[in-house]
Amino acid sequence: MPRVRGCGCSAAETVIASRRMDRGRSVRLEAGTASHTGLIRASNQDSVGLVEGLYVVADGMGGHRGGEVASAEAVAAMLSVFDRRDRAGLVSAVRSANRTILEMTVTRPDLSGMGTTLCALAVANSASGDEVLAVANIGDSRVYRFAAGELVQVSDDHSLVADLMRAGELTAEEAARHPQRNILTRALGIEADPVIDSWELEPALGDRYLLCSDGLFNELDDGRLAEVLAAGSVQETADRLVDEAVENGGHDNVTVLVLEVVAGPEAREDRRSAVPAARSEWSTPTLGEADQGRVAFGTALAMAVCVLATVVLVVGLYARQGWFIGSDDGDVAVFRGRPSGLLWFDPTFVEGGDLRLAGLDGPIRIAVYETIVVGSLDEARRLIEGFRAGLEAAPTDQA
Ligand code: MN
Repeated sequence: MPRVRGCGCSAAETVIASRRMDRGRSVRLEAGTASHTGLIRASNQDSVGLVEGLYVVADGMGGHRGGEVASAEAVAAMLSVFDRRDRAGLVSAVRSANRTILEMTVTRPDLSGMGTTLCALAVANSASGDEVLAVANIGDSRVYRFAAGELVQVSDDHSLVADLMRAGELTAEEAARHPQRNILTRALGIEADPVIDSWELEPALGDRYLLCSDGLFNELDDGRLAEVLAAGSVQETADRLVDEAVENGGHDNVTVLVLEVVAGPEAREDRRSAVPAARSEWSTPTLGEADQGRVAFGTALAMAVCVLATVVLVVGLYARQGWFIGSDDGDVAVFRGRPSGLLWFDPTFVEGGDLRLAGLDGPIRIAVYETIVVGSLDEARRLIEGFRAGLEAAPTDQA
């Protein structure tokens, strides 16, 4: 049986991988993993899971036991449904994990509002039949490649500070210290059809990969990650990374999965492939494609009206689902709908009016101005309380 672990366990505990061997594969990875609750949090809401050829890390969020359940269920769902060994199969396994969490949220009101990040790496086949490493990510857990002494972050963070950094509003240093750096812009368990990033990478003998929750890279900088990854077995490396994150403060749960390509093609000296940009895939099929070309001319108009009505309904539902924080005439406010409005469906004001945008810290002010998409009214309220608390904590004599 594949083992999934909610990580309330010691750093050195070993996860037993099942041996679901695929015949004829030449690429093989060795894995080491470790996790720790840290020094501040009461429970470990991270989860890690692996079977031969599939490796997953998830960082759950949500009150009560929600976070633990979300990350463990997401990892378990991935391990049980991943069978089509290509990049699209990996992405669809992530979607399946998302459905699992959403369904649980419906049947278990005590878990409502739970969500999780998830990153995964799998040995897979490319369209041309070559063996590749498929990577998928949603949220701010990370996948790094450590090859030829160089550490590269493969995944992009789906977080408020990462958005602000990409927009040139924050430097990497500011982002790393930002008090709101835990605000996610994408996660599993929030919406029916989330956008999942994915990559295909060339495996090369000796390359290492690191999958980790934010509890690791918020405590250790890239330079230190690279130094630790450079020495020892994968299990020793995993243990050392977690130990150091805890020694450096252990502010959050910390989970790492260290992989090494122990069988596979030699690295090509001349050019090690660069990490490509993410591909972001939606699974929504195009409306109305199925019956094209089979409609008699006489009924075409009726069909068109019907399809248009369906599109309007679907777009209306899409436009109205979701919540976001934005500016209502200079006040921080919560809206229902999509930030830009969509066709004639304008977002609806829900609440707000007691916190002025102008008083907020620069990056947060910009983020609110550009709107922050959230999963629920509760989440919006929590964030706004966070802004308010930051305001009260901040020194008032800043220039
Ligand atoms: Mn975390």
